[in-house]
Amino acid sequence: MSSLLDVKKAQQRLLSAFVAKNKEKVALADASGRVLADRIRADKDLPPFSNSSMDGFAVRSEDVKMANDDHPVQLAVIADVPAGSVVDSALGSGQAVRIMTGAPIPLGADAVVPVEATDFLERQPGTPAPDKVHIYKAIQSGGNVRLKGEDVRVGDTVIEPGRRLRPQDVGLLAMLGVAQVPVYCIPQVAILSAGDELLPITGELVPGKIYDSNAFTLISLVEKYGGKPLNLGIVPDQFEAIRTQMDKAVKVGGDFIISSDGVRVGAFDFVRAVVEEYGNLEFWRINMRPGKPLAFGSYKNTPFIGLPGNPVSAFVGFEVFARPAIMKVSGLLTSEHRKQRVMIGESIESDGRESYLRCIVTYQDGYWQARLTGHQGSGNLRSLVQANALLLVPSGVKFLPIGSELEAWILE
Ligand code: AMP
Ligand code: MG
Repeated sequence: MSSLLDVKKAQQRLLSAFVAKNKEKVALADASGRVLADRIRADKDLPPFSNSSMDGFAVRSEDVKMANDDHPVQLAVIADVPAGSVVDSALGSGQAVRIMTGAPIPLGADAVVPVEATDFLERQPGTPAPDKVHIYKAIQSGGNVRLKGEDVRVGDTVIEPGRRLRPQDVGLLAMLGVAQVPVYCIPQVAILSAGDELLPITGELVPGKIYDSNAFTLISLVEKYGGKPLNLGIVPDQFEAIRTQMDKAVKVGGDFIISSDGVRVGAFDFVRAVVEEYGNLEFWRINMRPGKPLAFGSYKNTPFIGLPGNPVSAFVGFEVFARPAIMKVSGLLTSEHRKQRVMIGESIESDGRESYLRCIVTYQDGYWQARLTGHQGSGNLRSLVQANALLLVPSGVKFLPIGSELEAWILE
């Protein structure tokens, strides 16, 4: 067991070969989902001007402090301010301005009395303002006023770099008038499937052959984690063919290359020979299950990750090693999985390696429970299809009784 490389150490060694991509500017409409590359500071206050949060009448609160249902206060309405316009004249004593939600508070006013507290309930657009209005309720100074700068002040940092922009983030950038957004370029990940047994999806399944399913899984994973997949397709187990495809991967600008050729001794000879000729390659035996063997190196200065060929091992190897690499190249500061503490709904035996078991996590009877799915053989993808999480059994553990607590990575 001591000769196996710890998962965390392997991740660190692998990640040290990757750096965040260059930055580019994109139109705000294209920025959602991209990783912000520079800190965004506000160059204006939000709201940019004090405005009304209600349809009603802007008043001086002092004028209406005695108002109630029995003794309404009558004010002269001197102007009308719909959203989008401003009033030039300042409010004097005994005066009001009809105001709509979002419209700027006129000078002299310090509060807005909502229409419901007046005798002018008409809200239809286009209805002219009345000459006079009766106010039935007192209002505090500042009532129904959204103050300039109450949300954001000039100079505030509003979004830190290194995280993916969400819908509300781009909304805030729009409020600030940020039309061009600095983001990291999208990582391009070349995907290579080598193997004489592999068929394209349109091929006829004959004995001895299987469809190249890993390419589809890996392409989808690259997309899921914000990368752009460059599918190099299937290559036979031949030196020249593999070299040609590797060169293509570099030429089309792949930031790194992933193969799922299987990294068992003997199963990997051609890819190994090609990568070693123009770069270097290390084989790691990792203290994990599935996916113990992992190849890592570079081809013509492009990092290379060789995942196991078994479909489940390739998936888990991707989640553990390729995912953090993509996220680092994307400029993301963290690549943590969404985690959930769960109770296991059955006892679990393990072989002492850090294990990533396919499971279904549900919320039942007040706690999160995990049950293993299907046949856990590393070629059996159906059990992964039935799963919604990977259950992490720590290294060194050989048996866990039902009800034990573990951590699970939520997959969707
Ligand atoms: P290997 O280590 O290359 O012998 O691969 C281990 C297992 O994974 C074998 O059963 C292969 O047929 C299978 N395998 C390898 N590459 C792929 C692929 N691209 N798609 C599906 N299965 C694969
Ligand atoms: Mg193979």
